[in-house]
Amino acid sequence: MPKRPSKHLRPARPLNSGSFASLVDKADGQWMVQTMPADLATKSYTCPGCGLVVAEGTAHVVAWPRQASIGSTSAVGERRHWHSACWQRRR
Ligand SMILES: [Zn+2]
Repeated sequence: MPKRPSKHLRPARPLNSGSFASLVDKADGQWMVQTMPADLATKSYTCPGCGLVVAEGTAHVVAWPRQASIGSTSAVGERRHWHSACWQRRR
Protein backbone atom coordinates (compact mmCIF):
# COMPACT_ATOMS: atom_id res chain seq x y z
CA MET A 1 0.00 0.00 0.00
CA PRO A 2 1.62 3.22 -1.15
CA LYS A 3 2.20 5.81 1.42
CA ARG A 4 0.49 9.09 0.77
CA PRO A 5 2.96 11.93 0.53
CA SER A 6 2.73 13.97 3.63
CA LYS A 7 2.23 17.67 3.36
CA HIS A 8 3.31 17.99 6.91
CA LEU A 9 7.04 18.23 7.13
CA ARG A 10 6.72 19.40 10.66
CA PRO A 11 3.82 18.92 12.99
CA ALA A 12 1.08 21.49 12.69
CA ARG A 13 0.89 23.89 15.53
CA PRO A 14 -1.86 22.71 17.83
CA LEU A 15 -4.40 25.49 17.86
CA ASN A 16 -5.46 24.75 21.36
CA SER A 17 -2.02 24.42 22.84
CA GLY A 18 -2.71 27.22 25.25
CA SER A 19 -6.20 26.22 26.15
CA PHE A 20 -5.44 24.49 29.41
CA ALA A 21 -5.91 27.08 32.05
CA SER A 22 -4.52 26.59 35.49
CA LEU A 23 -6.15 27.55 38.73
CA VAL A 24 -4.32 30.12 40.82
CA ASP A 25 -5.11 31.36 44.31
CA LYS A 26 -4.95 35.10 44.76
CA ALA A 27 -5.90 37.27 47.69
CA ASP A 28 -9.32 37.93 46.19
CA GLY A 29 -10.18 34.40 45.17
CA GLN A 30 -9.37 31.79 42.62
CA TRP A 31 -8.46 32.69 39.08
CA MET A 32 -8.13 30.71 35.93
CA VAL A 33 -4.90 31.64 34.23
CA GLN A 34 -3.75 30.87 30.77
CA THR A 35 -0.60 31.97 29.00
CA MET A 36 -0.95 33.55 25.60
CA PRO A 37 2.04 32.84 23.39
CA ALA A 38 3.36 35.71 21.31
CA ASP A 39 2.25 34.20 18.02
CA LEU A 40 -1.34 33.97 19.19
CA ALA A 41 -1.43 37.48 20.60
CA THR A 42 -2.95 39.11 17.57
CA LYS A 43 -4.59 42.02 19.33
CA SER A 44 -3.45 44.59 21.81
CA TYR A 45 -5.06 44.87 25.21
CA THR A 46 -4.92 47.15 28.21
CA CYS A 47 -3.24 45.55 31.18
CA PRO A 48 -5.30 46.04 34.34
CA GLY A 49 -2.13 45.84 36.42
CA CYS A 50 -0.32 48.87 35.08
CA GLY A 51 -2.87 50.42 32.74
CA LEU A 52 -0.48 50.20 29.81
CA VAL A 53 -0.99 48.43 26.53
CA VAL A 54 -0.11 44.77 26.14
CA ALA A 55 1.18 45.07 22.60
CA GLU A 56 0.15 42.74 19.84
CA GLY A 57 2.70 39.95 19.47
CA THR A 58 3.68 40.00 23.14
CA ALA A 59 3.40 36.81 25.14
CA HIS A 60 1.22 37.55 28.12
CA VAL A 61 -1.22 36.13 30.65
CA VAL A 62 -4.98 35.86 30.39
CA ALA A 63 -6.85 35.60 33.67
CA TRP A 64 -10.49 35.39 34.66
CA PRO A 65 -12.26 34.62 37.91
CA ARG A 66 -13.09 30.99 38.52
CA GLN A 67 -16.60 32.03 39.44
CA ALA A 68 -18.41 34.74 37.58
CA SER A 69 -18.92 37.96 39.47
CA ILE A 70 -22.41 38.81 40.64
CA GLY A 71 -24.33 40.18 37.69
CA SER A 72 -22.01 38.57 35.19
CA THR A 73 -23.25 35.70 33.10
CA SER A 74 -19.87 34.36 32.16
CA ALA A 75 -16.63 34.24 34.09
CA VAL A 76 -14.76 33.72 30.85
CA GLY A 77 -16.35 36.93 29.60
CA GLU A 78 -14.46 38.68 32.38
CA ARG A 79 -11.11 37.70 30.94
CA ARG A 80 -8.37 40.25 31.33
CA HIS A 81 -5.06 40.35 29.58
CA TRP A 82 -2.07 41.05 31.79
CA HIS A 83 1.60 41.60 31.22
CA SER A 84 3.20 38.46 32.60
CA ALA A 85 5.23 40.53 35.06
CA CYS A 86 2.18 42.47 36.24
CA TRP A 87 0.26 39.27 36.88
CA GLN A 88 3.18 37.85 38.83
CA ARG A 89 3.28 40.95 40.97
CA ARG A 90 -0.42 40.70 41.75
CA ARG A 91 -1.26 39.11 45.06
ZN1 LIG B 1 1.03 45.60 32.93
